[in-house]
Amino acid sequence: MTTQKPTASEIERAIRNVADFPKPGIQFKDITPVLADARLFNGCIDLLIDGFKPGDVDSVVGIDARGFIFAAAAAVKLEAGFVPVRKKGKLPYQTHEQSYELEYGSATIAMHVDALRPGSRVLLIDDLLATGGTAAAAVALVEKLGGKILESSFLIELKFLEGRKRLPGHPVRSIVAY
Ligand code: AMP
Repeated sequence: MTTQKPTASEIERAIRNVADFPKPGIQFKDITPVLADARLFNGCIDLLIDGFKPGDVDSVVGIDARGFIFAAAAAVKLEAGFVPVRKKGKLPYQTHEQSYELEYGSATIAMHVDALRPGSRVLLIDDLLATGGTAAAAVALVEKLGGKILESSFLIELKFLEGRKRLPGHPVRSIVAY
């Protein structure tokens, strides 16, 4: 039996908006209903990697924490490695760190120093692109290790925050935009 692949608008309908989480004023995009539906989950991985085939990508880099879910599944489909970018203090071995500005204060993410070989072809994946600060910091870490970003791919993009302006030099894809 062949199952019909989901459209982006079907995926959009499954994304739950939770107002005022984790703090007042934030419209949190809850992707757990997408993950819980086998057809939607599988289909959104296909949309995130559309145009790439096994052999095209050496490593899929996923961003802590929801990005791991999509990036790991994409890595398996692309027969590529999976590399986590984590919040500072979570990775056990030596790391490179990159800080970036938040609305209030700053955050730091980290990647193992030996996570990528120089020249690695990288697909960067996260669940959501907002201001682009997190993804831009992840790009900086990949480039510090000599990796080359082929594309960055997000399930959701909050377009009004113009995050893709902070990701110059490579294609940026999103499946559902608000
Ligand atoms: P930014 O650095 O502003 O692009 O924020 C992107 C990161 O924050 C991603 O890892 C998202 O998982 C998370 N994030 C930001 N805004 C939201 C939101 N409205 N709903 C869910 N996650 C969000």
